[in-house]
Amino acid sequence: MYKRIYYITIKKGDSSKVSKNFTRNEFYSKSIDSPNEHPLASVLVDAAQIIRDYYGVPVHIASSFRTKISNRVAGGALKSLHLTGCAIDLNVASKSAVININKQFKERTGDLFKKLRSIGITGFGVYGESFVHIDCRRSSDDVPMTEVDEFGDFQFWDHGKKKSQKKT
Ligand SMILES: [Zn+2]
Repeated sequence: MYKRIYYITIKKGDSSKVSKNFTRNEFYSKSIDSPNEHPLASVLVDAAQIIRDYYGVPVHIASSFRTKISNRVAGGALKSLHLTGCAIDLNVASKSAVININKQFKERTGDLFKKLRSIGITGFGVYGESFVHIDCRRSSDDVPMTEVDEFGDFQFWDHGKKKSQKKT
């Protein structure tokens, strides 16, 4: 039912292209104790490129793989998908694009949302106008997955602008 997750290895300082508009090091971990290389689900690269193409504006990867220490520092959830390289946080460089992506995620509809669902994105988090989180969670990850659509189970949450709650 779920799409199989393929992982690529992201190595420190690798400036080679991984998709049309992204280099590998854009997806490199920003943890304070980052390893020299780490896994990243390839569907997240595809998703970032789809978002880049959809809005036609730069997309910045604010967070990808996190070590346990940096996840704790970031206030990440105990079972954050960032720990396994299965989540990224994105900044979209256009206010109208941010408003639109928030709207599509909140309404669980729209061409971009459907496209991301169709390739296997299963976690969607909105954080005011600062960033969006996407991941490729599975029910076996023991994380919330309370919604279902034509593509299967998924989870959406709206963190709003609050800073006190845990990030995922
Ligand atoms: Zn996140």
